[in-house]
Amino acid sequence: MNELNVAVLGAGTMGHGIAQVSAMAGHDVTIRDIEREFVDDGIDSIEANLQGGVDREKITESEKAATLDRISGTTDLADAVADADLVVEAVPEDVDLKRGTFEDVEEHAPEDAIIASNTSSLSVTEIASALDDPGRGVGLHFFNPVHIMELVEVVVAEQTDEETVAFAEEFVEDLGKTVVSVHDTAGFASSRLGVALGVEAMRMVEEGVASPRDVDASMELGYNHPMGPIELGDVVGLDVRLDILEHLREELGERFRPPQILRRKVRAGKLGKKTGEGFYVWEDGEIVGTSGDWGDDE
Ligand code: NAD
Repeated sequence: MNELNVAVLGAGTMGHGIAQVSAMAGHDVTIRDIEREFVDDGIDSIEANLQGGVDREKITESEKAATLDRISGTTDLADAVADADLVVEAVPEDVDLKRGTFEDVEEHAPEDAIIASNTSSLSVTEIASALDDPGRGVGLHFFNPVHIMELVEVVVAEQTDEETVAFAEEFVEDLGKTVVSVHDTAGFASSRLGVALGVEAMRMVEEGVASPRDVDASMELGYNHPMGPIELGDVVGLDVRLDILEHLREELGERFRPPQILRRKVRAGKLGKKTGEGFYVWEDGEIVGTSGDWGDDE
């Protein structure tokens, strides 16, 4: 793929990662956030990631420097997208904000620019319908941390043109990542399956079938998952898990009904790793025990 001008909107967790992998693939990247401080933080995070790559001898010092040279930052949306071939938005998960962002991009970007959303749960069809030319709207669902995770879902909205899909798939493959193409449905492919496993695992703990550690071990050791579904819920955040389940239940039915144990934990502020307790007890980012009456199962 030729070298592109890529604009990334939002310099947060996902935006800075998308900017980094795009620049590493040789594209010129402009990263835009609403405050200069956020733009600078994003670029600092990219520099720190690249330095980690140098320290682990994954990339050279000159590759790091060349990658950083290809990245610039701005708070001006019109400037960011003026010459873009591809715009990827990674602003917060709010449908009105994303629709407004798509509208603004269409106003200021070249007519043939592809406009992508990194939404993890919203309808790309609804976001793209904010465009006068919705055929160039598509979902590019990256995973966190972007520079490590191999998968990207290309989410094909109701109106997405075939050329847009082909462009998005080529762009992702050129980043060295693996594409799965999914039609725009709630939870796409990854979240729907991941959450289905997570919710059943919570029900099993609730019913006393096995402890969180044993449920996780059965998937880690029996199915070669790098992390069990209960621990993954704690890492993602149980509040986030609950929101996704509510959304999937609304769209896909009762099989995604959140279990009581999850609601109780969220009400108690036991949100997982970030609050120090969820299904497990956490200290300094590590599991040190199991929450509740599971004895010395650790
Ligand atoms: P984040 O809060 O870390 O970053 C969002 C950034 O967008 C912030 O820096 C904020 O200042 C900025 N912002 C707000 N309004 C803006 C605007 N109008 N223009 C430009 N920037 C603006 O959020 P995140 O975790 O990076 O999530 C971004 C998107 O990616 C969401 O849609 C989320 O669902 C999706 N996503 C997140 C993950 C994850 O694990 N965090 C994984 C996949 C997809």
